[in-house]
Amino acid sequence: HLSLQQGELRPRDGFFVRILQAMQCSELLAREDMSFDDFLDRLPLSAEERQSARRMAEGFDAADTARASARALRTEWTGDILGDTPQSRPRDGYERLLAALAAGLPRERLQLQSPVQSVRWSKGSVQVAGECLGAPFEAHGARAIVTLPLGVLQQTSPTLGAVRFTPELEAKHAALQRLASGPVVKVLLRFASCFWEDVHAGRYREVSFLHLPDAEVPTFWTQAPAHVPLLVAWAGGARARDLASNATPADIVRAATASLQPLFGKGLEVARQLEGYHYHDWQQDPYACGAYSYVTVGGDDARETLARPLDATLHFAGEATDTAGEAGTVEGALRSGIRAAREVLAAAPV
Ligand SMILES: Cc1cc2nc3c(=O)[nH]c(=O)nc-3n(C[C@H](O)[C@H](O)[C@H](O)COP(=O)(O)OP(=O)(O)OC[C@H]3O[C@@H](n4cnc5c(N)ncnc54)[C@H](O)[C@@H]3O)c2cc1C
Repeated sequence: HLSLQQGELRPRDGFFVRILQAMQCSELLAREDMSFDDFLDRLPLSAEERQSARRMAEGFDAADTARASARALRTEWTGDILGDTPQSRPRDGYERLLAALAAGLPRERLQLQSPVQSVRWSKGSVQVAGECLGAPFEAHGARAIVTLPLGVLQQTSPTLGAVRFTPELEAKHAALQRLASGPVVKVLLRFASCFWEDVHAGRYREVSFLHLPDAEVPTFWTQAPAHVPLLVAWAGGARARDLASNATPADIVRAATASLQPLFGKGLEVARQLEGYHYHDWQQDPYACGAYSYVTVGGDDARETLARPLDATLHFAGEATDTAGEAGTVEGALRSGIRAAREVLAAAPV
């Protein structure tokens, strides 16, 4: 991790350790939860450290720090998730993971491209209706595992992607209000070469993350240890929201290359190195309605409540239901699926 400080890229110092220590030692949350902003304002930290902590909550958790639960962030940050474990990713992309999961299912049981519009349920009976490639479809069963993204579950009007439950999921209302789906901007930038490896006497050759705290797009990562001409540009939270609203994908790409430019001076024009890009707007995607979930003030038990089955008939999985500290991640989503499948298998016939 290299961070731009006073015009120079330097390894990140121990700022995060100091923030974690201050968060851990504080008694402020013993009685009640508060917003992460309020919590930070009361911790013995420098203005710079506060700012770094806010940016971390925005960038990593996609959280609005005025709404995010300080308790939830403290629990998450002081857990394992930010440990020194190396970054890892499926080398050939997540498609491989999905293919491996699908391989365990009979092909004819897997129905894709089928947005669900309604779920009618009563104890021991679930009827799902929607469209499959433009044609109506229905499915029936004794139970269902609902894995809709949080943002979709929160939709209350009959918009594209939204699912109407009959009867309504009243037992989930409070939990849904205490969770939020944060915004993220992620752009894959494909360049003509790994030009960053050759500049400044090879200083950035092995770099994984570049942090540019004041830039419009503040985080970039390479595919290290692989040397491929691809950089991922990333912004989360308020910055992502501001960046994505009223901007075309080309505007966002321009903002990303402009954010990188100061690292390379006048001798190298980053935008001219660009050969292609991929951008997806998760906020506007009606089947996502945001990137991933965070807990808002007072939502201590929101994930647990969301995960709880209803009448041994509707089960719930998906990253927002993870209670093992991995919410907002692929790991959390996978684990929640295993948990829900076990619940179904362990339950007596209804
Ligand atoms: C930009 C971005 C970057 C991320 N980076 C990382 C990362 O580096 N590491 C990490 O671990 N995690 C990362 N995550 C988070 C991770 O992708 C999620 O936590 C995980 O994919 C959630 O899985 P899920 O099954 O809960 O939900 P999803 O993967 O969202 O699956 C829900 C499914 O429901 C479908 N759906 C929605 N509405 C309907 C409907 N009406 N009918 C039928 N189907 C519907 C959707 O199409 C989708 O396929 C990132 C997320 C984003 C958006």
